[in-house]
Amino acid sequence: RCVLRELTEIMNKNPDISLSNPLPGMNQSVFHKRYLKKMRDLGEGHFGKVTLYMYDPANDGTGECVAVKALKQENGHVPDGWMKEIEILKSLNHCNIVKYKGLCTELGGQVVQLIMEYLPLGSLREYLSKRKLGVPQCLLFAQQICEGMEYLHSKRYIHRDLAARNVLVENDSLVKIGDFGLTKYIPEGEIYYRVREDGDSPVQCLILRFCSPFPLTSGLLGQMTVMVLIKLLEKQLRLPCPKECPHEVKILMEQCWAADPSKRPPFSSLIERFKGIRQ
Ligand code: ADP
Ligand code: MG
Repeated sequence: RCVLRELTEIMNKNPDISLSNPLPGMNQSVFHKRYLKKMRDLGEGHFGKVTLYMYDPANDGTGECVAVKALKQENGHVPDGWMKEIEILKSLNHCNIVKYKGLCTELGGQVVQLIMEYLPLGSLREYLSKRKLGVPQCLLFAQQICEGMEYLHSKRYIHRDLAARNVLVENDSLVKIGDFGLTKYIPEGEIYYRVREDGDSPVQCLILRFCSPFPLTSGLLGQMTVMVLIKLLEKQLRLPCPKECPHEVKILMEQCWAADPSKRPPFSSLIERFKGIRQ
């Protein structure tokens, strides 16, 4: 730490030493709390809170913007699930997956924060609420999300929480998958076909949030809603398609909603289909 401080001081006094050309051996994935300047809140979900910071070790405004994810509840120890989420993101490298940058630890390791690249247009959910996308842009985003998912699966991970709030927008022609909080690794030889642990499944929570006017309805009302929904799905009823949705996309959506999972197209074939429709 002392060495780093000294280095930073030397750099401050000698602005011609370029920060983009760091000294060999300098760990760039360690972010120091004291150089993180809070800019604004970016969003939050069930477990995490994400904040925009400027990381500016030179303290001259030339720093970079980073998104910092912290757990909402800190109680003196770092939960396993949180470290898993961090390790998963660290192991991923794809243009449609948010990039890991490093960690910031506090209190001798009792608090760990995840540093990622900042995507200026926020979540796809917010983005969609502010503008109306044309069909070509929808198809491009859909294809990019599938590319990210296909890569994830090639690494034997399943995301389990793919939703517009967990997709991030870089610009009008690039989206990336974020939030690996519920992601699971499926070891070689194992087939993912059912949930083993109780309360392990995000599905019930998702269904409730989908169809209930209240956020996360539990109890009797929630159970009734799920039962009604299951009945509708059993009758092969599905959401209607928007008016401007191309016919090929409608067919594709219906295939993805097939009751029998083995009949649903894999991401690899979805990518090819989206490419075909976009031409
Ligand atoms: P949680 O695990 O609590 O759901 P997320 O990782 O989904 O947390 O982040 C919560 C919200 O913060 C997202 O829906 C998005 O609005 C915002 N966000 C997350 N990561 C970034 C990022 N890298 N750049 C910009 N906004 C982000
Ligand atoms: Mg989320």
